[in-house]
Amino acid sequence: MGSDIAGNIQAIREELKDTQAQLIAVSKTKPNEAIEEAYAAGQRVFGENKVQELVDKYESLPKDIQWHMIGHLQRNKVKYIAPFVHLIHGVDSLKLLKEINKQGKKVDRIVPCLLQVHIAQEETKFGFDIAELKEMLDNKVLDDLTHVEIQGLMGMATNTEDEKQVAQEFAGLKSLKEELDKDYQHPRLQLKELSMGMSGDYPLALANGSTMIRVGSTIFGARNYNT
Ligand SMILES: *Cc1c(COP(=O)(O)O)cnc(C)c1O
Repeated sequence: MGSDIAGNIQAIREELKDTQAQLIAVSKTKPNEAIEEAYAAGQRVFGENKVQELVDKYESLPKDIQWHMIGHLQRNKVKYIAPFVHLIHGVDSLKLLKEINKQGKKVDRIVPCLLQVHIAQEETKFGFDIAELKEMLDNKVLDDLTHVEIQGLMGMATNTEDEKQVAQEFAGLKSLKEELDKDYQHPRLQLKELSMGMSGDYPLALANGSTMIRVGSTIFGARNYNT
């Protein structure tokens, strides 16, 4: 089976035509050649979930690429991506947000972030629960965080065939965004983005208000972790 990265991207672009959503091409584990193929097809926005890989690719690929950190981020690694990262999707604790702020300050950048919310039924997925998130905003923590901007929310739905459940989880994240947008005003809380939807569920995410879909295997083919 030959890969057709350009064709796959084109097909997804067609699906996005009548939406406000943006495609984040998730290139984790894939070589630079695959990214270059997507780049040649006009794709400029890529997502990675490992800091070292993200930094290596940033350094070796064209500088007009926007790099999104989509995975779980460890605090001690924030410093490596703070100078250039376009958006950090998976901010799942106040401690992490504070570290991003600290590293943003060092490099004189306001680092764009999304707060990850736990919407799935699985125990293992990272993210704030809703009460925790509201408590954080109630405590006005953003007053002290001058070098982050919260641009929206990110969520991962349960990995299930039950489309109704997945749709419900996405719709729940959307209404949470609207609620927070109404209830909390702060210059560094600009809730525009809803990062939701991956290869298996992005049509449902789009139908429920996603503004950023994070698609890997549908573009680049299945990942091989055995190397
Ligand atoms: C790997 C990954 C994706 C993309 O997954 P696919 O199923 O290959 O589209 C999206 N979001 C996150 C957080 C990921 O880690």
